[in-house]
Amino acid sequence: MLFLPAALLAQIAGEAQAASPRECCGLIEGAGGGRDFHATALHPALNLAAAPDRFEIDPAAHFAAVKAARENGHAIIGCYHSHPQGRAEPSRHDVAGAQEENFLWLIAGPEGVKAFAYSAGGFEPVKLILGADLVTSSL
Ligand SMILES: [Zn+2]
Repeated sequence: MLFLPAALLAQIAGEAQAASPRECCGLIEGAGGGRDFHATALHPALNLAAAPDRFEIDPAAHFAAVKAARENGHAIIGCYHSHPQGRAEPSRHDVAGAQEENFLWLIAGPEGVKAFAYSAGGFEPVKLILGADLVTSSL
């Protein structure tokens, strides 16, 4: 499962709304691995994709996010993006573009935000647990 502070969920929803009709995207900083993840911060990134139904995280933003996470004693545990027109589920482009094992994917759609983990060539739903910021600030 993924423990996500409510403030971060609100941030993703806000970015999704601001980017619409294009997709927003960014990286998730946190801790964990295996089955349980704790998100602690988001790193919004420029979407370099030309098509409105794709996202491509700016490599410079990716590099900066990894560095910032390390400095906090964390790691980049996943990415997030929005589907302004579609469902909050991985699209065929997402499946084709996914590479990193045990990497979290948060997808914001009109019906809300859903979490998935990519491993062994596919996406598995991950239970999203919303918490107060206090829960993760001690990590
Ligand atoms: Zn997508």
